[in-house]
Amino acid sequence: MFARLREALASGAASLPDIATLVCQELPADACAIYVARAGEFLELAATHGLNISAVGRTRLRIGEGIIGIVASSGDALNLADAQNHPRFAYKSEIGEENFTAMLAMPVKRAGRILGVLSLQNRQPKAFAPLEVESVATVAMLLAEILARAGATNLPEEGLGDALPRRYAGHILAPGIARGTVLAYGAAPPIVHLLTDDPEAELKRLNRAVDQANRSLDGLIAASLPGGNAPRDVLDAYRMVAQSAGWLTRVKEAISDGLTAETAVDKIARDLRERMRKIGDPYLRERLADIEDMIGRLMVALGGAAPKPERADGFLLLVRRLGPADLLDWHARGITGVAIEEASASGHAAILARALGLPALQVERGAVEAAHEGDEALIDAEGATFILRPEPEVVQVYDRALFARSIRTAELAKYRDLPARTRDGTAISLMLNVGLALELDQLDRTGADGIGLYRTEIAALASGGLPDVAAQAAEYGKVLDRAHGRRVQFRTLDLGADKLLPGEPGPAEENPAMGWRSLRVGLDRPAILRRQLRALLLGAQGRPLSIMFPMVATVEEFRLARDLLEAEAARIRPAPETLEAGTMIEVPSLLFQLPGLLAEADFVSVGTNDLMQFLFAADRGTPELADRYDTLSAPVLEMIERLATACAEADVPLSICGEAAGRPLDALAFAAVGVTTLSMSGNAILPVKAMLAAADLTTFRPILRELRRAGAAGGSIREPLAGWAREHNLPV
Ligand code: PEP
Ligand code: MG
Repeated sequence: MFARLREALASGAASLPDIATLVCQELPADACAIYVARAGEFLELAATHGLNISAVGRTRLRIGEGIIGIVASSGDALNLADAQNHPRFAYKSEIGEENFTAMLAMPVKRAGRILGVLSLQNRQPKAFAPLEVESVATVAMLLAEILARAGATNLPEEGLGDALPRRYAGHILAPGIARGTVLAYGAAPPIVHLLTDDPEAELKRLNRAVDQANRSLDGLIAASLPGGNAPRDVLDAYRMVAQSAGWLTRVKEAISDGLTAETAVDKIARDLRERMRKIGDPYLRERLADIEDMIGRLMVALGGAAPKPERADGFLLLVRRLGPADLLDWHARGITGVAIEEASASGHAAILARALGLPALQVERGAVEAAHEGDEALIDAEGATFILRPEPEVVQVYDRALFARSIRTAELAKYRDLPARTRDGTAISLMLNVGLALELDQLDRTGADGIGLYRTEIAALASGGLPDVAAQAAEYGKVLDRAHGRRVQFRTLDLGADKLLPGEPGPAEENPAMGWRSLRVGLDRPAILRRQLRALLLGAQGRPLSIMFPMVATVEEFRLARDLLEAEAARIRPAPETLEAGTMIEVPSLLFQLPGLLAEADFVSVGTNDLMQFLFAADRGTPELADRYDTLSAPVLEMIERLATACAEADVPLSICGEAAGRPLDALAFAAVGVTTLSMSGNAILPVKAMLAAADLTTFRPILRELRRAGAAGGSIREPLAGWAREHNLPV
């Protein structure tokens, strides 16, 4: 079929009716119809073979009307054995399809836009076979190129509302605010040569392009961020997926079927996107995003896509998907923010964006489609909104906020080299929460006292698996190198619940957050935990080592974990200068075992993220509950105060390492009830230091006590606390 299509196209004589006839003959099918999208949201029958020719130009269906309209509105193909009895079938008398039963309706799509629908019909009530569906999908893709090239759809370039401001809700991938001009990269130009009669030559072109794309990827990885090992873990895993042979084999098969190299790559990319839309598992989606990153490189190498601009300073990147290599690439070209339609906070791109300090949002679908090159936009990755073509007044508000922020950043810089202490002289140790080697730069940038929480599972999640002992040991050794003697508290793997490795189906549990996760898995399947403990001991190479266990619920569990650590430690030389075993306090049951726990643990660290969700029975991932319960409330402060007192009496160091520790007002309250070590993400250190430096705990404590009494019913006391702080010129 493709050979005949190519001949018809090459002769320049291929019209839509010719294509309809050819498809009918080659597939074969009893009838073929080509509907083309027209301005005003309807589809018009533009050509047919097998139906009434007189209906051409007359039969029209609204988007959503009938089988054709459903396919146009959903963008998904429908393959029906009996279309006439489909509840949404729309009968059009003029078209003469009474005798046809089976129908395959395929969307004709280009760059996410529906240009029309290609339909095949048969008299026999039998759905089309998978191979037939595959062939029709390829014809629909070619048809899309032909329609786009001919400008055949007369869809308005500048449709209604294309100049109006638009707001899109989003999810924060990496916090921050950025304003700039939209760079909607990735809208492919029409492919010039769709089909080939020389597949051999096309395969050679493909191989050359693959080499070139691999070289560009290797170059990018080699020259990635300063500071060496930075995103290697992410990128190496990405490269494995991107360069894996599976999808390239499919591209080669498509070339053997008669498609040119760029058409074949484009076709496989479309298939992937289609599959990606249906995949619920975020990690699998991320792997597919990795492949698409590579596809972009291939298209550039094949001349089927414009190369990236040399510089993109001040631009905001707006894309459907983004792989980690591309993100690094764009970052190096100067973008100041990124909005991605299909991304998850735990995905590669998000992890890198956070490590790079680049504001990043996942935006609702539709933003890419609505944006035009050169539009102004705002990425508000604090209010979780993407604003396209913002009104001047809105821009002014954000500009003022950005200006105030830049002044504040400059003011905060002075705290970097000052010790963290309150105005009354109480020393508070501020430490970093880190998940990737890439973030270690922040140790020096923020003047942190060390790493209070090294989340070892993040690197495993980013690279899609657990490396072997030697590779883990190398990672941990580097962390200690970069810490230059500052304290590092390594937390053992905290996988499960929302943190699943790719390929791990995730147990079928009603409540995975309270399920078989984290240390529970480690104790039941000790081999992985022991390997990690060995790697930590090896990486320390005789230096002091502090290890803490997550999700401990009983002293007994802590003891079992510590025993595993000691068993490993007995075998490894050089032994660490000091070896401390601590625990996270995330499960409320531990609060009722304090005497036993504090007699055995060398240190404890409160994970408020999990502790809050278990204390209030409020899932931390449910947006509706996000503001319902507050760390700044009487019960939580009561709990922290009692814990701080017990730790002080038992002489066991206590820290808080949940998100709350990085909020200046919460940090102040924690300091007031006796917590002297707080661990937080890098961007929180200086604001918290500034808050502490301005606050006098001796005047603040009675106020807090009063507010706690007034809030004894358990609600939030944040508002009155913030009011008091503002009155006293504290930087809330
Ligand atoms: C916590 O639960 O507060 C914590 C620090 O651990 P994570 O956020 O990694 O679950
Ligand atoms: Mg936790």
